[in-house]
Amino acid sequence: MIIDTHAHITCDALYARKEEVIEQAKAAGVGRILIVCTNAAEGERALRLADTDDMFDVAIGFHPCDLYDVEESDWQRLEAMLALPQVVAVGEIGLDYHWKEVDKDTQKRGFIRQIEMANAIGKPVSIHMREATRDTLDVLKKHLHVSGIMHCFNGSEETVREILDMGMYISVGGPLTFKNARGLPEVIKSVPLDRLFVETDCPYLTPHPHRGKQNEPKYIVHTFAKLCELKETTVAQAEAQMLENYQRLFRNGCASS
Ligand SMILES: [Zn+2]
Ligand SMILES: [Zn+2]
Repeated sequence: MIIDTHAHITCDALYARKEEVIEQAKAAGVGRILIVCTNAAEGERALRLADTDDMFDVAIGFHPCDLYDVEESDWQRLEAMLALPQVVAVGEIGLDYHWKEVDKDTQKRGFIRQIEMANAIGKPVSIHMREATRDTLDVLKKHLHVSGIMHCFNGSEETVREILDMGMYISVGGPLTFKNARGLPEVIKSVPLDRLFVETDCPYLTPHPHRGKQNEPKYIVHTFAKLCELKETTVAQAEAQMLENYQRLFRNGCASS
């Protein structure tokens, strides 16, 4: 089975047709989905899904671009949800300097606060990093005591090494399949299979050849096939290794490698 380690299936667009989305994901060979929720309402939806089907795990956290109007009561609600057993990760959290709505200091404060929550409960983090590589890595090195996943990774080989040195994992999404993927395929070749994951980040970043459509977990097969080609491995070997990675990260505590 394939694991989608980053899917926003409780966003309004996908949740409205969730039965179909889930059924088609299973038919495509997706056996596990980490649902990433960016607010409490999505979190409630994800918890309901996790109660009805054990293929789902839940991550919840404040995205850096959403930190402008978070109130103290929101923080308390987040903390309560993170304590639930179905919630296996804190995320997605991080830094995003592409969008300017939230200033860098507010982003860093929110990021560090959530890293500290993850440290306190011993659950891994799912990290969003866009146009903020140096600051993100510096914050992680200084504050993070658990492991985690760099989601939708699109960085350099040097960045890969820093992330691996921290005991973290790299997850690659649809951009790996894009015709303008530039250096990403070569970079992914340098990541050992026992530190790799795949994801959709649906409803965004639909892989080739479905670009232009709304993304959903069933399309992960295209990213997965590309990854197997680059890593010169069979689908069965890659599936088994990623399952082992997932269990190591989420089931057996956070200490990796
Ligand atoms: Zn993200
Ligand atoms: Zn995301």
